[in-house]
Amino acid sequence: MTGGMYLENRYAVVGNPIAQSRSPEIHLAFAAQFGDVIEYTKHLVTLDGFGAHAQAFAAAGGCGLNVTVPFKTHAFKFVDECDDAAAAAGSVNTILFQPDGGSRGCNTDGVGLLNDIKYRHGVYLTGASVLLLGAGGAAAGVVLPLLNSGVAQLMIANRSKDKALALVAKFETIFAQKGVLSALGLDEIPSKADVIINATSFSLTGGSVPLKPSVVQGAFCYDMNYGKSAEFCRWASANAAKCSVDGLGMLVEQAAEAYWLWHAKRPNTEAVMTQLKRLMAAPEHG
Ligand code: NDP
Repeated sequence: MTGGMYLENRYAVVGNPIAQSRSPEIHLAFAAQFGDVIEYTKHLVTLDGFGAHAQAFAAAGGCGLNVTVPFKTHAFKFVDECDDAAAAAGSVNTILFQPDGGSRGCNTDGVGLLNDIKYRHGVYLTGASVLLLGAGGAAAGVVLPLLNSGVAQLMIANRSKDKALALVAKFETIFAQKGVLSALGLDEIPSKADVIINATSFSLTGGSVPLKPSVVQGAFCYDMNYGKSAEFCRWASANAAKCSVDGLGMLVEQAAEAYWLWHAKRPNTEAVMTQLKRLMAAPEHG
């Protein structure tokens, strides 16, 4: 591979859309903490163009890619090998291009969510009943880490129940402990759960909160969406949730895990959270 330090430190995030992505600011802030010189850009890729784009990026000296909606499953199919989290989820959000020309796919979303919930918000999930709303890529990425954190019950509720059933069937083959996982339609949600995680995109697709207010009363509520899109977080807070937080911390923590995989350095995420909140509160970011 040719090129100096600049080329050897080339990273990017790919998605469609991509303008909204905060990954460049986050990774450049991490790099600044260590005095690392990296390039991190965002790439808008056509819906059928993921493989060709990733290949061209690697051929041009790219070292790693982050992958966002809708390409996480494309990335899973693209990579030569992957870690256990990505294999279980069938979804890759971080690619490492290796010096021998191979590629390794990882999924850092689950670690990101768990680190945020446990270490930033102080909520431990051992013995908890957890309701996971959604059965898309983000939900799939967090099922195994949630199961491994010792939850007593993990209920996956989705608008299309068949997708929740498929997710449960898949993880039941990996996770030995029986009776922990269940699949529900949105009309079958129980009256209470200790922890409720919104992994749906209803706030982006123009839908409304798929829950009765009584369900969130007294629960720790986590919305994977953040900023303007964190409608569930605001709604849960207004409906007497014990605590309600948005997914900005997950975003920063999954990025920190990617930084670790790429650079073997653990950034200070709290400092970057503060910078990001300030940036998002600025008038031009509304
Ligand atoms: P997908 O498109 O894979 O899945 C979307 C999910 O939302 C599906 O379960 C879908 O249900 C459900 N859904 C969509 N519209 C509605 C609606 N109107 N009412 C009820 N359910 C609905 O998206 P992802 O799983 O990749 O992402 C989900 C959300 O999580 C996104 O908003 C994304 O921005 C966020 N996210 C945040 C991250 C972070 O770091 N903070 C990381 C990853 C994702 P159905 O199957 O019935 O269509």
